[in-house]
Amino acid sequence: GKRLIGKSVLITGAAQGIGRASAMACRNEGAHVIATDLNVELLKELQKEFPDIQIDHLDVTDEDEVKSVINKYTTQSDATKNISVLFNCAGFVHHGTVVTTTTTDWDRSFTINVKSMFLLSKYTIDYWLKSKVKGSIINMASVASSMKGAQFRCAYGATKAAVIGLSKSIATDYVEKGIRCNCICPGTVDTPSLRERFVTLGGGDAEKGREEFTKRQKMGRLATAKEVAAMVVYLASEETAFITGTEFKIDGGWSL
Ligand code: NAD
Repeated sequence: GKRLIGKSVLITGAAQGIGRASAMACRNEGAHVIATDLNVELLKELQKEFPDIQIDHLDVTDEDEVKSVINKYTTQSDATKNISVLFNCAGFVHHGTVVTTTTTDWDRSFTINVKSMFLLSKYTIDYWLKSKVKGSIINMASVASSMKGAQFRCAYGATKAAVIGLSKSIATDYVEKGIRCNCICPGTVDTPSLRERFVTLGGGDAEKGREEFTKRQKMGRLATAKEVAAMVVYLASEETAFITGTEFKIDGGWSL
């Protein structure tokens, strides 16, 4: 059935991977979708397939742009299209240990992965409070976070642990207003950027890298973006009206 009728979902990092799969899944469940990314060319391809999706450029690290995009999608003449679900999906994976990670890598990781979610949540919740919208925020964390150590994920793991902390804080502050905030913690998901990481992990050999990544997945395979998108639909829907401040693992047993 259509589980997201009446919802309007803004997604960051929606041009490819989990963000794109989630845009399609939410739209197929009857939601209005606002797909944003740095890469507008790829967003246009998505919109060609689904003309009812709204697309826009949004660099999640740029406070002025975050402010103006949120303002635009909370003041539309068709109020049913105004944001009622926020999926903070955009993120960046840095490969390094504490010794090989530079302060630039560290700062960049926190800016893209954490400050982004702070900014989007800040301006969206401000609107929800003023308009009495009982919204839902879904933040993309990872099992590589406070849940589990992962090799070469020093800055990345620290940012995703911060995402879990941020999400619990938001959930706590707004539970009485009917605003929910949860996070998703995937294991390894087959996406375009993961394919680039195969090369790094395999020391230039993508096939070897894929094997290494697959080995750590106890089910013997990677997740598909579609499987993670199903969890986004669930957390956006009223089926989870009683769930807030929680982290949802979807890792094929990696953290067992
Ligand atoms: P991806 O890495 O293939 O694509 C990321 C998208 O985010 C791209 O379209 C990119 O243009 C966009 N993006 C990057 N910087 C941006 C910025 N400053 N502003 C706006 N958009 C920006 O996608 P993915 O692998 O599906 O990852 C999506 C999220 O899922 C990330 O937060 C990632 O950390 C998380 N995650 C991924 C995996 C995995 O194995 N793929 C596992 C756990 C968590």
